[in-house]
Amino acid sequence: MSVLYVVATPIGNLEDMTYRAVSVLKNVDYIAAEDTRHSKRLLVHYDISTPMLSYHEHNETESSAGLVALLEENKSIALISDAGTPLIADPGYRLVRDARAKNISVVPVPGCSAAVAGLSVSGMSTDRFCFEGFLPSKTVARQRVLETLNSETRTMVFYEAPHRITETITAMGKAFGQERRVMIAREITKHYETFWQGSLAEATSALEKNEITQRGEFVVILDGIGEKPEFYDEAALMRTLLLELPPGKAAKVAHQLTGVSKKVFYEIALKEKR
Ligand code: SAM
Repeated sequence: MSVLYVVATPIGNLEDMTYRAVSVLKNVDYIAAEDTRHSKRLLVHYDISTPMLSYHEHNETESSAGLVALLEENKSIALISDAGTPLIADPGYRLVRDARAKNISVVPVPGCSAAVAGLSVSGMSTDRFCFEGFLPSKTVARQRVLETLNSETRTMVFYEAPHRITETITAMGKAFGQERRVMIAREITKHYETFWQGSLAEATSALEKNEITQRGEFVVILDGIGEKPEFYDEAALMRTLLLELPPGKAAKVAHQLTGVSKKVFYEIALKEKR
């Protein structure tokens, strides 16, 4: 029986490999790797000599077809990415979808993911959280996504590259208010592993002063706005503020108090005026 295994690998510390992952990688016919040269180190470390095939973002459609053809010939394949769980901000979606469409068994071999590792030590609410992956790199598009998350009550988890971490934290300060709590988890499980926690204002300043090194890999974990208290009512809040302030200023203050988007309050203000 052919099986496609989706195998998690370490995100830094090679010892975070499961016994089952090693055994599956040793026993499948092929390992489909995002970057075969990168994965070679892991395979050598665990004395795994299974042949590797390349599977990466730029050839996902073609290589997915090739791998599904092998699975249909009863070969078993393990999909791995450069680090962590494949498909989580990593290639593999097409392959899993296409294999499932052909009724091929797709089996997870779970292990690390940087998002869950960071979240688990954040001290922020984990009852509900959302994974936002990488934000768009362009300023306007990124701000637009952040605005849509403005009233998010769940803890938010982001991935970020070192050359964009300062820009992103600054943009978050604008979108969510400077007081929102954030954890910046850097180089999890590696030699320079650090966890920094504070407000977005403090984070921006720590990055500007290089108190947080802008090198390596980052997970950013951001507090949600929390559940609204029972008595909280957006329209009532705006009515009170409008007694003293013009609509634009009232919307700004309401946003600072609640974290809900300024636009939402501005629209309420216009309705109240009418
Ligand atoms: N599939 C991976 C997973 O399950 O976590 C994520 C792959 S994604 C291409 C790479 C991003 O994950 C990095 O840019 C960083 O944001 C995050 N990441 C991966 N390893 C990390 C680590 N050791 N410490 C902090 N962040 C990490």
